[in-house]
Amino acid sequence: MSDINVVVVGSINMDLIIFTKRFPKNGETIIGNDFRRIPGGKGANQAVAAKRLGANVDIIGCVGDDLYGKELQSIFENEGIGTDYIHAVPNKNTGVAFITVNQQGENSIILSQGSNSNLSPKLIRKAEQVIKKAHVLLLQLEVPVESVIESVKIAKKYKIPIILNPAPAIELNATLLEHIDYLTPNETESKQILGRDFGTNEEIINTLKGIGVKHIIVTLGENGVVFNNHAEEIIQLDALKVNAVDTTGAGDAFNAAFGVSIAEGKTITESIHFAQTVAAYSVTKSGAQPSFPYSRELDA
Ligand code: ADP
Repeated sequence: MSDINVVVVGSINMDLIIFTKRFPKNGETIIGNDFRRIPGGKGANQAVAAKRLGANVDIIGCVGDDLYGKELQSIFENEGIGTDYIHAVPNKNTGVAFITVNQQGENSIILSQGSNSNLSPKLIRKAEQVIKKAHVLLLQLEVPVESVIESVKIAKKYKIPIILNPAPAIELNATLLEHIDYLTPNETESKQILGRDFGTNEEIINTLKGIGVKHIIVTLGENGVVFNNHAEEIIQLDALKVNAVDTTGAGDAFNAAFGVSIAEGKTITESIHFAQTVAAYSVTKSGAQPSFPYSRELDA
């Protein structure tokens, strides 16, 4: 048993993927190729990635009262993730993503948020006891923003470091941002959260710092990250050079690993090195959750 407690508040989905030669036209039915069903949702992904790195993990989220909800719950249990704060919502479907991938590798996605939209501030308050024991709190934006705000309030009360991965991005106001210790947008999201265009990443980081975010870590895909360190210098670190097969879930692997490392008391720079290693590992394998490494694989 690890002595590092990670709590994730976030979405839980089932991804339903059909591979096809081409996308159908309006009103057309076509015969596709293989079908895959993969557990997903940013909250679930980050919880699984953190657990595989050796932390104790609890997820606070909602599933529907359907077969996917039960299946996802048992997937968490098999991973060893705490499910006491997963709420099964009556008469609601579990979140699903309908994904089609064509021969060029392009995708089109329709998401039904389903029970994820039922994660209310009241359910967050019911989980105060588990948040209280966390060494880090991981948040994203696939659940109602009021519940993200409620989670932040509770974490602040107990002085727990807060990591917000603002994805999918919406414009965020200062009352939320000023409480965030580590904000981890990708390059596109970093502009969307501020609702306007910027010239450079440095300007974005300085603007967010002005609002009160302590550390901004903009992830740049294969180009690595740019962030402000404890000495308030803006640093760019290269990503690891790997043979990328599928970058789905790279951001989730990055956030989970970064969170585990911060919870262990490592510095921001050490934590980014670790997060980039885990994320680079994950892009060498296909899928999100199937690609997340166990700590013993990283040691090897
Ligand atoms: P998101 O998945 O949220 O869009 P990014 O694409 O910026 O996030 O990826 C997050 C991190 O994953 C990057 O900062 C980098 O460390 C790592 N990463 C992503 N793509 C690659 C790649 N092709 N090679 C190596 N590392 C990668």
